[in-house]
Amino acid sequence: MQGKLNVQTENIFPVIKKFLYSDHEIFLRELISNAVDATQKLKTLSTRGDLKGELGDLTIDVKIDSKKKTLTVSDRGIGMTAEEVEKYINQIAFSGVTDFMEKYKDSHEPLIGHFGLGFYSAFMVSDKVEIFTKSWKDEPAQHWNCEGNPEFSMEEDKKHTDRGTDIVLHIADDCKEFLEEGTILQLLKKYCRFMPVAIRFGEESVWVDSETDCDKDGKPKRVEKKQPRIINDPEPAWKKSPSSLTDEDYKKFYHELYPMNFEEPLFQIHLNVDYPFNLTGILYFPKVRKTIDPNRNKIQLYCNQVFVTDQVEGVVPDYLMLLHGVLDSPDIPLNVSRSYLQSDGNVKKISQHISKKVADKLEEMSKKKEGEEKSALEDKWDDIKIFVQYGMLTDEKFCERAMKFYLLKGVDGSYYTLDSYREKIKALQTDKDKTVCYLYASNAEEEHAYIEKAKAKGYDVLLMDSPLESHFINLLEQKIEKTRFVRVDSDTVEKLIPHDDSIPEKLSKEEKEKLQPIIEGEIDKQRFTVQLESLEESDAPMQVTQSEFMRRYREMAQTSGGGMGFYGELPESYNLVVNINHPLIGRVLNETDAEKQKVLVHQLTDLALLANGLLKGEALSKFLKRSVEMI
Ligand code: ADP
Repeated sequence: MQGKLNVQTENIFPVIKKFLYSDHEIFLRELISNAVDATQKLKTLSTRGDLKGELGDLTIDVKIDSKKKTLTVSDRGIGMTAEEVEKYINQIAFSGVTDFMEKYKDSHEPLIGHFGLGFYSAFMVSDKVEIFTKSWKDEPAQHWNCEGNPEFSMEEDKKHTDRGTDIVLHIADDCKEFLEEGTILQLLKKYCRFMPVAIRFGEESVWVDSETDCDKDGKPKRVEKKQPRIINDPEPAWKKSPSSLTDEDYKKFYHELYPMNFEEPLFQIHLNVDYPFNLTGILYFPKVRKTIDPNRNKIQLYCNQVFVTDQVEGVVPDYLMLLHGVLDSPDIPLNVSRSYLQSDGNVKKISQHISKKVADKLEEMSKKKEGEEKSALEDKWDDIKIFVQYGMLTDEKFCERAMKFYLLKGVDGSYYTLDSYREKIKALQTDKDKTVCYLYASNAEEEHAYIEKAKAKGYDVLLMDSPLESHFINLLEQKIEKTRFVRVDSDTVEKLIPHDDSIPEKLSKEEKEKLQPIIEGEIDKQRFTVQLESLEESDAPMQVTQSEFMRRYREMAQTSGGGMGFYGELPESYNLVVNINHPLIGRVLNETDAEKQKVLVHQLTDLALLANGLLKGEALSKFLKRSVEMI
């Protein structure tokens, strides 16, 4: 029989060839998916009793013949009768691909998955495609042949007696890479690694005990043996029931997914939903330290165990892109553009479901088990904190949930929930306006002197050192009423949490006016603002502080890029706080020798800078020299 496919689409083959040039490779996934479907259908017929007898080996074979320049995919599935080839290949499949091309020919957006091209995607890489197929029904085998134009031929094939289908691709000259074993192996590993029917391709070496040779101790020698290579794991962990898996199994699967990653995941969530949408998968929490690299070990999206993509933007909330693992859902529309995907109802529900499951898991981990000193969440907190912060900053619903389990960490290493911490500090750290002041340090080493001063006053100090911290602090200030965060070095300890009791001043107004220019004359006025304050006599004579507001906005501008440019461009500026009640400041004021006065001011400012880690280079050398001279 000779035939012609739909005439209006004369030019469809050149279009298929050009379509998604960079994604030519998906043809293999499409053909093997068809082979898998045909095999699964056969198994169903058998379990239903429609098909009697042994099914035999159902492994799918992929073979390269470099002389004939062919690539063949063979299955032992249900096969097709002549009528079925006419219907499914000549009409339905063809019209399917025509629709697909029609719909997306002008699309400039990358499509998700590119499912829908089906069987005809074979023409992206072939000059000619042949189908040899024998149905499970008692009907003659068929040979279909199409040379990449709308004409095809179909005839009975007497030679073929085994049930199943061989698809033979005559690879085009400009697609020779698909005749290379390495290329095909890589593609099979990418798209077919977890397909549910075994797929055989080429051979691999294994080391086994020799049956004939022994070593000198009489033990059988280890010898290399070639055996057919099965490229997939037909029963991946995410398809199994969570109760049948141990922690070890999950870790093993993690390494199967990411063979190049040697770190262990922290914990995982096994997803298993069948209503109102179908979703399975395992999400792993990796260690997220200071650096966030969303491009490593990305989440892989599958559709019934067929790999679709690892670009899951739109399917999972942004912050969950930091997780690793797999998601498998037939309910995510795959032959659509990304922007469509984000507005799809099912996708939204799936995304919300995942977010909720993540919050559930973290909340469960925050509950201390009996007899345990630390909750599981405390135990892993340092490694997942950024991730939780990112989630709270970008997902309103997740934020609401996380307010219950978010942990603050003290500089001494203890953890508190937001509620328990407020209780702890409320009494001492509420200021005169009834605002509770949370003191924090970004770096316990560098801000050591300030932390000590705050502690001496009975205050508690938090360690807040993630790159998202300034944004996160702003969020908490909005979420928790009457709350203010202040870094320990942003003011003198008295003023960090202003109470009503002020200390009497030892200098008169005139004396202060006289003091101010003496100090200003010796410092870099671009960087420092002199601030005269009435502090305890026992406090330092001079201190350097940095305004909380300015510093935080600068940091936020630096981590958000754009939009806050103004703050990012501000120079770093500090306050030089002068304690007018300190005896040494009195001495500066009363010193009559101008030279001695200068040296004294220098020495005091340098000491303040030194405490803050700001005295460096030449200034530091000069200070050291001057100190020795003074002794
Ligand atoms: P889809 O798989 O999305 O239905 P295809 O164009 O890939 O679209 O295939 C069209 C139809 O041809 C399939 O639905 C199936 O009925 C039939 N078919 C394709 N490949 C095979 C095969 N290897 N064995 C049996 N039937 C097949």
